[in-house]
This record gives sequence, C-alpha cells and structure tokens, in this order.
Amino acid sequence: MAKKQFKAESKRLLEMMINSIYTQKEIFLRELVSNASDAIDKIYYKALTDDSLVFNKEDFYIKLSVDKANRTLTLTDTGIGMTQEELENNLGIIAKSGSLAFKQENEAKEGHNIIGQFGVGFYSAFMVADEVKVTTKALGSDQAYVWVSKGADGYTITPGEKESVGTEIVLKIKENTEDEQYDEYLEQYRLRAIVKKYSDFIRYPIKMDMTSQ
Ligand code: ADP
Ligand code: MG
Repeated sequence: MAKKQFKAESKRLLEMMINSIYTQKEIFLRELVSNASDAIDKIYYKALTDDSLVFNKEDFYIKLSVDKANRTLTLTDTGIGMTQEELENNLGIIAKSGSLAFKQENEAKEGHNIIGQFGVGFYSAFMVADEVKVTTKALGSDQAYVWVSKGADGYTITPGEKESVGTEIVLKIKENTEDEQYDEYLEQYRLRAIVKKYSDFIRYPIKMDMTSQ
C-alpha cells in the first residue's frame, strides 16, 4: 500500500511531538495506557450486555514488554481492537482540532507544563519513538491490520497477523543524543515509576514482562 499523508492538523501536532519541545516526554506512556484502558472498557461493557461474549476478569489487562537489544517497548491490550477503517480514522486524523488549538493557545500563556495536564493522545508516542507499529484485531473480525509510521512523512496500513482480539503497539525507542536521554524508557524501574505516577487509577492490571531484555 502506498504511504498515506496525515491530515494537516495531525501533521502539525505530530511535528510538535517529534521535535518535542516538551520536557515531560514520559507522559507518552500515560496516553498509551489510557487508550488501552479505554479499549478494554469498550469490550468490557459489550461483554456485560452481550451474552454471546464470555470473558473472565483475567482476560482484561495491559502488558508492557521491553526488548533492550532491539530497543523496543511494546504495549499490549486485550481491548476491543480496531478495524482497518477505524485504524485509518483514529490514527490518521486528529478529531479534536479544538483541543489542539486550546493547547497551543494555553501553552503560549502558561509555558510548556500544560502538556502534562491534558490528553495529548496517541501521537505523543513519537516523542520517544522513531517508529510506531500498531497491530490490531477488532472484536468480531478475523483479519488483523498493521499501521506503521516513522512520523510526519505518513503511515501505511497493511493486513497482518494477530491471534487474539486487541491491540499491540511497538515503539522503537530513539537513540540517546547529547541532549536527550531515551534509554530510560527501556528500564523496568523507570517504566514502573511512570505507570505509578500517572496510571495508578487504571482499573485493569498493568503487567510488566521484562524477560526478553
Ligand atoms: P483520544 O484517546 O482522546 O480519543 P488518542 O489520540 O489518544 O485520542 O487516540 C485516538 C483514537 O485511537 C482513540 O479514540 C481510539 O479510538 C483509537 N485507539 C488508540 N489506541 C487504541 C487502542 N489501544 N485500542 C483501540 N483503539 C485505540
Ligand atoms: Mg487517548
């Protein structure tokens, strides 16, 4: 599939994220965990009202895994997943243009800290990753799809393999530079601390799988 371009507003936000004028890069994890939690909420409530769906409490969780050698941080959720169309609509476009305008306006007024207080969403992954790969299988679908992007130059969506319903997001963590440290996002203690700081209230278990390091 040919590479697609992000919509203009998404592109602007993305460029902000990539050039990360923000000091609180760590909030990317809060955003991804909150998306995972939202996705599990959706399947959880569906299961409550749909007798044909049988789930156990243990079926709902978020998992973080690190592969230090390959510099990847992977977030897996057992949420509702996305169809091909949803991938396109949800990750190719930023729907809440109003909130972006609000953020930019207030950032100018109050400094950069505002970013820590508002949801900046999925694209914040590009503050710490130079490539993001989302593999997802929607509830009720037999086919999984893979969304890949290295940032502002666009994204591709192709059919892929995934056994269970839900979403897996692989972040290829940036290399350290003279000015910026990224290695910390491959460290268990650091990830744990970030989860504790921002995602303590999440009502699904957040598991850590560090075996592959
Ligand atoms: P928001 O969460 O405020 O809607 P985001 O940029 O964080 O904005 O996410 C955009 C959309 O992408 C979400 O609304 C959701 O539809 C979809 N999405 C993101 N992550 C996931 C996920 N792990 N599982 C299912 N859908 C997701
Ligand atoms: Mg979100």
